Amino acid sequence: MCRVPVLVDLPQHSGLVGPLTYAHHSALSPGTLVQVPLGRREVLGIVWESPPNDPAAGVQAIGPESIDDEALKPVSAVLADVPPLMPAWRQLVRFAADYYQRSLGELTISVLPPELRKASAASLARRSARLHKAAGQPQVDAADPAPRQTPPSLTPEQAQVLAEMTQCTDARPVLLHGVTGSGKTEVYLQLAEQALAQGRQVLVMVPEINLTPQLEARLRERFSGHRLVTLHSGLTTAQRVNHWLQAHLGQADLLLGTRLSVLASLPRLGLVVVDEEHDPSYKQQEGARYSARDLAVYRAHLEGVPVVLGSATPSLETWRHAQQGRYRLLRMTQRVGQGRLPRVELVDLNLQPKGKGSTVLSTVLIAAVQARIDRGEQSLLLLNRRGYAPVLQCGACTWKSACAHCSAWQVFHKVDRSLRCHHCGAAQRVPRACPDCGNLDLSAIGRGTERLEEQLPPLLQGRDGGPARILRIDADTTRRAGSLESQLAQVHAGDVDVLVGTQMVAKGHDFRRITLVAAVNPDGALFTSDFRAPERLFALLMQAAGRAGRDAAQAERSSMLIQTAHPQHPLVQALRQHDYEAFAASQLAEREAVGLPPYTHLVVLRVEARSAAAAQAFLADATAQSTDILIEHPGHDFITVYPFVPAPVARVADLDRWQMLVESSSRPALQAFLRDWSPQLQTLRDGHRAVVRWALDVDPLSL
Ligand code: ADP
Ligand code: ZN
Ligand code: ZN
Repeated sequence: MCRVPVLVDLPQHSGLVGPLTYAHHSALSPGTLVQVPLGRREVLGIVWESPPNDPAAGVQAIGPESIDDEALKPVSAVLADVPPLMPAWRQLVRFAADYYQRSLGELTISVLPPELRKASAASLARRSARLHKAAGQPQVDAADPAPRQTPPSLTPEQAQVLAEMTQCTDARPVLLHGVTGSGKTEVYLQLAEQALAQGRQVLVMVPEINLTPQLEARLRERFSGHRLVTLHSGLTTAQRVNHWLQAHLGQADLLLGTRLSVLASLPRLGLVVVDEEHDPSYKQQEGARYSARDLAVYRAHLEGVPVVLGSATPSLETWRHAQQGRYRLLRMTQRVGQGRLPRVELVDLNLQPKGKGSTVLSTVLIAAVQARIDRGEQSLLLLNRRGYAPVLQCGACTWKSACAHCSAWQVFHKVDRSLRCHHCGAAQRVPRACPDCGNLDLSAIGRGTERLEEQLPPLLQGRDGGPARILRIDADTTRRAGSLESQLAQVHAGDVDVLVGTQMVAKGHDFRRITLVAAVNPDGALFTSDFRAPERLFALLMQAAGRAGRDAAQAERSSMLIQTAHPQHPLVQALRQHDYEAFAASQLAEREAVGLPPYTHLVVLRVEARSAAAAQAFLADATAQSTDILIEHPGHDFITVYPFVPAPVARVADLDRWQMLVESSSRPALQAFLRDWSPQLQTLRDGHRAVVRWALDVDPLSL
């Protein structure tokens, strides 16, 4: 009889943070998937290193040597058709659990496809047998290599970047800072080609797969002789486990995926690409709140493979690494061909006649859109707020469309005459009259994409004298599967004059007819309490600008219009020059002056409770713990624990949300502190039943 350590999905607060010990008639190698009894259930487990051989894990084995072999429960089944997960993968999840303060078992099991957790050994055996058989056959798309697309001849900048990366030995992560349309994707493709030629697997990560269907198409076209699989939340559970298995079995050569793909098993990994590395979607916002970008860098380092982070507007964290020489900075400053970045023009809203509503559609903007229509070109109007109006208000009393469950307004959606809360999802029909005073005159305050779409037709004329063709694309118009694709197809086909949309349309699309991009109302983000808001706004507007003038023939008359009441703002001025570096320098100076990331490291303890008092009581206890720890702690000079405060949206879905910030100039000191604090926090659970959820958010994106 052998004693087998097995990790199962147990949350940290169970106190059982290490592997459990089970009995089996033979030894099982670490990484093997098994089924084991846990309480009354049968659960998925993964054989782990014995803790004595695994000092890095810092975990305690349950089932000490004193327990008789006979008292140990036996392993129920071994999933022998799935090869063991490799040491590098195990090291990756161990690091992630440790760094983001999650239980190792919970994180490890949760990043495996859900279907794997449910599947019986027999059904898995069938599935993997099918995959093995499929691998023996020629692949459908590999059948005919003749249509294979040939790579274009490289631009001088692309050639330079590729030469740097392939000729010079340098183990540092690469930041590929290239303006939109400079041909970054082509660089990824060429690097992928080299890795594939060496028999290695390639991981390409994107923020949101549905927004960039072109990238998938390009990869499939270029590498038609190789198998590509995707991993993202839009897959069915069956697809997800199939794709995961193909990557794990080494049958898939390319994995294109969103943040969760960074934790996929890729036994032959040879290259990691993180496209749009600055995108906030790379940060998981629940459960293990990992940054997939940061894990990608760690993973590449661990496996000794190159990693490329690409962006036109790198995150300030990444930019600072590059400035310090920790990342290798490679630049591409020119658009491919004769493509040029659009001229940026400002419309000073202070000089506009005051119209109805909080902002106006300036005559300059309308004239610019009309000129595009007359030339048969397209315009993109960016307004980062969906719905008709952010709030509905009574003209006679003080009633506003507040959400009953959140400290937020319900948004007016005219299309179905509903009021909807964008935080908790609560929805209701728009009342006929004011619920407080019965007044019939309710007015919509402010403007969302739906209203913009409605305001435009009377102001514009179609080319044939009829109405202008206006299309709105946002989360509301793209709920149905396939609707985004068909709407984008309409734009590409030229069936649309004016595209109205949220940030969804600013991303990656290779629009060919758009020669005008207008930011209708970006000022809100200039003055918010969120310290990353300017960085995000800059990235969004640069990315939006990148949608215009992609076709060389039209580049000359492409422009971006920014309606703003703050034309002198440094962010706006930097945008005008397409000057990311100046913007980054000014932002970094501000962050350094006030001690914000990347100059300090942050952790937020987030608490959701049934009452504000319950959240405060929990946080008071947490504060006391942290004080006790820090008195003894060698790193206490480097760590500041701030008083707890309500979250920016203080109540969501009937739960009060509070938070507490911990800041440190030293990442190791902060990590050491968390290692002491986190287990203590777990013990608070019993005394605080009204606390529904709490979590440590390491390297939070928002405060
Ligand atoms: P980025 O990813 O930097 O925004 P892309 O890689 O999408 O830029 O390139 C922009 C456009 O230029 C695409 O349509 C792409 O097919 C084309 N392109 C890229 N590199 C070349 C090249 N060397 N020769 C010709 N066209 C190219
Ligand atoms: Zn009223
Ligand atoms: Zn709500």
